[in-house]
Parts: sequence; structure tokens; C-alpha cells
Amino acid sequence: MSELLNESPTKTIFSEIRKWKAEKDAVILSHYYMPPELQIPVKDGGVADFLGDSLGLSVEATKVKAQNIIFCGVTFMAETAKILNPGKNVFIPDREAGCSLASSITANDVIELKKKHPGVPIIAYVNTYAETKAECDICCTSRNAMSIARSFDSDTLIFLPDVYMGQNLQKGIEKETGKKLILWHGRCEVHEQFSNTSLSTMKMMYPNAEMLLHWEVPEETVEESLNNRAGVLGSTNDILRYVGESKSKEFILASECDLGAILKSTYPDKEFITPCIKCPYMKKISLLNTLAALKAIGTSEEEKYKVELSQDIIDRASIPVKRMLNFS
Ligand code: SF4
Repeated sequence: MSELLNESPTKTIFSEIRKWKAEKDAVILSHYYMPPELQIPVKDGGVADFLGDSLGLSVEATKVKAQNIIFCGVTFMAETAKILNPGKNVFIPDREAGCSLASSITANDVIELKKKHPGVPIIAYVNTYAETKAECDICCTSRNAMSIARSFDSDTLIFLPDVYMGQNLQKGIEKETGKKLILWHGRCEVHEQFSNTSLSTMKMMYPNAEMLLHWEVPEETVEESLNNRAGVLGSTNDILRYVGESKSKEFILASECDLGAILKSTYPDKEFITPCIKCPYMKKISLLNTLAALKAIGTSEEEKYKVELSQDIIDRASIPVKRMLNFS
């Protein structure tokens, strides 16, 4: 990613952002699916104070000392930062940065599920809005979903909202413990595109490449991909770790395209092949609107970027989120 720093307009915006961060007492938390220029850490000349997956960013949000957090990710992630750090101001450079999974379920849907399945524990993937989280027993990320599901005594659990991740989780948990999952029908519009068809040409062209599959990829793709070759099904962090431990030089990536940027910069001697499917919500965030959000802090413009949650929602949603962090 360092070549980006040689392009002077980008270098100028980086300097501007760093200057305004200091002036506004702000830090930038940036997700692995951000455009590559927002993934460059401050220590390498970029602007990200912390780069991570949803769980890493949630944990980091609890440690922030600065008064203002600029969250370069999507809205449900910025809400989680606010839930965990309610005394801080949290800003997102584009409040339209949504998520098809988070939008697939509302708090009322969860209330209806509870009426239909009384007493069944509800695990909410962290990709849900704060009001939805507030109705659930515990949150999880792709990194800790399995250990959280294992921890309940109940024979049946509700897992929401991602149906594909739920099916992948169900397979593992049923085999190990016999537990059954009741699933919602949400889908990540990025990961659902990783069908066997979209990966088949790549598999033919790179017969020795290992597979990197995110939990949100459809179950049939997982089955077919890992049936006859090595690879990993896991969270973003599992994928990063797997590549570091593997001796292979070639990998087919079935996850958001810009995860390839951090993989390539961390492991420059390895090759990553991907259909390059980008999340349209993550790509709403850019260097320019990050700079605009920073400049707006403390002015009449700041409402445009500020993440606001009622105290009641913060109080109730913080319970499942903090329970999740105890598993980290
Ligand atoms: S990649 Fe999928 S789960 Fe992540 S923000 Fe985009 S739509 Fe939501």
C-alpha cells in the first residue's frame, strides 16, 4: 500500500487528516474492508490509529482516550463504538453507510421471535443495529460465534440475522454438541455472491491455491471448496492468521475485495486471487469525507456525522455487547 504515499494528492490529504485529528482530539478506527488508503496506519504515514475487524475495533473502542472517534466502517460498527464508549463523541463520515445484514432485522422482529420461542437464548451477530441488539441475550462476531454458541446449556439457540453464517455455524455446533439453531433469513449481499460458479474458473486456473472463506459465504460454497483442497472457513482474523501459518504461496479469497489489501501488504510474497466483490456500504467512506467529518467536529455541521443513541438503547444494548467481549 506504500505506493499510495508516493501520489502527492493522497499524501496531502493524509497530512491534512493528521493535522485535523490532533486539532480536534480525534482518533480514526478503520475496518479491514475500507478502501486501501484508509487502511494505512499512522506509523506507516497513513491515518488509521487502529485497523481491525469488528471485534478488534469494538475492543479498541473501549480504550480510546481522545474525546472524538471517527469510525471508518459502517453504521452498526460506529453504534457499537458509541455503546461501549458512551462518554465519547462518535462520528461516521457517511451516515448512509449501512449493511444488508443489519437492515434485515428490526427490534420488533426479535420481540416476535421471543414470543414464538419463549426462553430460547438469542445470539445476535454484531452486524445488527443497536435497537436490535438491545433485544438479544448476547452478541457475537465471526471470531467468537462458535465459542459463544458452545457456552449455552440450552439445546436450542436462536442465531440472527445471517442465514449463511448460521448454517455454517449450525454444521459445526450440531456435530460437536447436538445443539439446534433457529435461524433468521438475513444475507450479506457481498458474501452471498461467492457461489461455486463465481469461484470455479479461479479454482481451475489455480489448482494449488488454498481457499480463504469467510463465515458469511453460502454453505454449499464452503462444502465444495473445502472438500478437495486446503483452506480455512473463519473470521477475517482467522483468514489473516491462516495465511501467515500456511506454506502455500497462492490463495483464493472469498471475502470482501479490499481485505486483499491488508493481506498483500502483510504477506507481500504471497498471491491473492479474488472475484473482487466490494461492499457498496463500506465504499461510501473515503479520505475526503473522513476529512470533512473531522473538520465538522465542534461546528454546526457535526450533526451530519454524529452517531446518536438514546440512553435507554445504550444501556440495554451494552449488556449483550459486553457479554460478547468477555469471550474475547
Ligand atoms: S460486507 Fe456484508 S456484512 Fe459487511 S457491511 Fe457489507 S453488507 Fe454488511
